[in-house]
Amino acid sequence: MTSPALSPLGSLALARGTVDRVTARRLDTDWLDAAWKDPRTRVLVVHEGQALVREDGDHIELVFIPPDQAPPGTRFLLGQDSDGTVYFGISAPLPAPAPADSTTHQTQESHATHGVRPASLREVGALLPDRDAGLLTHAVALANWHDTHTHCPLDGAVTVPDPGGHSTTCPVDGSEHFPRTDPAVIMLVTDPDDRCLLARNAAWPGRRVSILAGFVEPGESAEQAVVREVAEETGIVVTSLRYLGSQPWPMPRSLMLGFRAQAPAGQVIAVDQEELAEARWFSREELLAAIQARELALPPPVSIARHIIEDWYGGPLPSAWSPPLR
Ligand SMILES: [Zn+2]
Repeated sequence: MTSPALSPLGSLALARGTVDRVTARRLDTDWLDAAWKDPRTRVLVVHEGQALVREDGDHIELVFIPPDQAPPGTRFLLGQDSDGTVYFGISAPLPAPAPADSTTHQTQESHATHGVRPASLREVGALLPDRDAGLLTHAVALANWHDTHTHCPLDGAVTVPDPGGHSTTCPVDGSEHFPRTDPAVIMLVTDPDDRCLLARNAAWPGRRVSILAGFVEPGESAEQAVVREVAEETGIVVTSLRYLGSQPWPMPRSLMLGFRAQAPAGQVIAVDQEELAEARWFSREELLAAIQARELALPPPVSIARHIIEDWYGGPLPSAWSPPLR
């Protein structure tokens, strides 16, 4: 099953999940217990943003284990596939990558042992099939939350996860707590000549450039955040905002909201040197030439930034930068 592209940006790497989240089952302890006892149920172990993947030539997939082999850890329901298979995640140290039958996925039983290794979303988010990309994104997001939100913020008591692992409750005051998602805006700004504003963050390695981005502040709309961030970072005032699409970015808990914006003529770039090393306008020809000359590199295909830049460019751009796979 392939997920349909839900945004004009096309199929975003981390927004391709196909598994039904079956939200109505999260508090259904009978159903959850039965699913956990079912040997067909698949468990994905996540530890510090990584899960085990199996590589076989060009094919890469997640490594699941049956519930009876799952290590102790915080458990959460990820969902149920159209074939009835139920998926759970567990935040726990990764199992040792080996022997055959214990780590196999239903369709690739015989290839179990080779090429099994831990990997992060950044590395494999764009390479996994739709189902696995969605499951890993969901599992990493929930595991990050469980790992960092273990106590009640009101009285400091250790909270108790609900049966499905999608909320926690304080045993002292009964307060409920839900996973955090922090909205961030990411925007491609064009000038009246349809040139695109690209910037290099002072903290980024080498020649990498990207479009501008920043977090939405409390009490602020996404559109207001776009205007504020562009002005803060480059001194450019933008108008004519257009929403493009979004994808989760659980590193550790963002939701990236993609925009286009226009910069009226007659403005001078004034870079905020604390955040950016440089920023400048690129025509399509200038951008392609700079990539081909290896003078700069774009963000990887797993990022929404890459899709927004290629949406403006009008097609795929050469990949001059890719993350190390090992
Ligand atoms: Zn409490």
